[in-house]
Amino acid sequence: MDNCIFCKIIDNFIPSERLYEDGRFIIVRDIDPKARLHYLAIPKKHYAYLSNMDASDTQELGHIFAAIARESENLGLQNGYRLIVNQGADAGQTVFHLHIHILGGEALEWRKNNE
Ligand code: 5GP
Ligand code: ZN
Repeated sequence: MDNCIFCKIIDNFIPSERLYEDGRFIIVRDIDPKARLHYLAIPKKHYAYLSNMDASDTQELGHIFAAIARESENLGLQNGYRLIVNQGADAGQTVFHLHIHILGGEALEWRKNNE
């Protein structure tokens, strides 16, 4: 897609620290980390939103989840990690190409509302 930051990262028009790649997705380090380790798993196919995937597309997510689990030690995540998809305004989505945040490398806060 034109003007999509993550399509440009996938096509190497924008540099990134790429830690994993296969035919379907890449894992890069987030440019503005929200945890000691913060990566982004980005499918090579452009979906603006999670909600744009149809039933067959969701196989893509199964593949990505399994690969993240397999690669977790190589990524320094042997003590655990958190996966997040921000969908839409309430979640604060800023890049409209589906991506899964992978957070870890430290004990993560889990904020509850009203605290
Ligand atoms: P969102 O808020 O859409 O879920 O997350 C977008 C993420 O992409 C943010 O964590 C932001 O730091 C990251 N990001 C934005 N631009 C770039 C970039 O050019 N390179 C990398 N590696 N990450 C980026
Ligand atoms: Zn894109």
